Amino acid sequence: MNKDKLKIGIYELTGCAGCALLITDCEMELIDIFNAADIQSFLMVKSDNIEGELDIALVEGSVTTENEIEELKDIRERAKVVVAFGLCASVGGIQARFGNKEWKENYQKIYGDMEMTHTKPVQSKPIDAYIDVDLYLPGCPVGKEQFLHFFTRVLKGAPPEKYPRPVCVTCKYNENDCLLNKGIPCLGPLTADGCGSICPNHNLPCTGCWGPAEGANPTSEYFLLKEKGFDIEAIKKRMSNYSGTKLAEFFEQFKKESK
Ligand code: SF4
Ligand code: SF4
Ligand code: SF4
Repeated sequence: MNKDKLKIGIYELTGCAGCALLITDCEMELIDIFNAADIQSFLMVKSDNIEGELDIALVEGSVTTENEIEELKDIRERAKVVVAFGLCASVGGIQARFGNKEWKENYQKIYGDMEMTHTKPVQSKPIDAYIDVDLYLPGCPVGKEQFLHFFTRVLKGAPPEKYPRPVCVTCKYNENDCLLNKGIPCLGPLTADGCGSICPNHNLPCTGCWGPAEGANPTSEYFLLKEKGFDIEAIKKRMSNYSGTKLAEFFEQFKKESK
């Protein structure tokens, strides 16, 4: 163990594990990653994990059980910097798209009255619902290129890149014809651009997998899509899919205002 190396822990809460898997998918860079940092904990790839003090904790997944709340608080106490790694950790992800009432109904549809024996489920939420978060790296999953940029910058003590612009800005730089004008609903105006507008570049609509952009205006997008004649329920579903609690809150508010 090298004292000069940053101590890093990589943790998984509720999600599909795709973001953690993405790190293992950096095949050409994996040895360099493990040589450059002291990876103390990473359940997916090593068994000799140490749960001590950390410089950086990358936390994947949303908080979906009482045990995970405790685990997350313990990570926060041990880590100088906590990173919400991926969309689930940043905004809650697909499993957090329902409001407080609906998650219980949906849980019952699958599990009936069966109870978990080792912990209790709770409404799925992003990690900043329970702890202070220092950095966010969204994406479902996080892009490999974005992870490597992030990792390299953090190792050198530089602040990681931010992704404040919506997908539309990059889409325009890339000179794509706007899909909305072709009758295809696209969530580019709402979505943070970390992907380089990869879907519209290939004539496919953005479905929002990087989560809400800073200052996104869901009301405006909602009415824009509605005016263009798209089905309202389909718009809601599409807008809710990847935005976790953020857009669920918007639709709750919208329901109240439209009564
Ligand atoms: S953000 Fe997406 S890829 Fe990452 S854990 Fe959640 S569902 Fe999986
Ligand atoms: S295609 Fe989508 S991302 Fe591109 S400009 Fe139109 S709405 Fe924005
Ligand atoms: S264009 Fe949208 S859906 Fe496609 S990768 Fe980028 S953020 Fe995700």
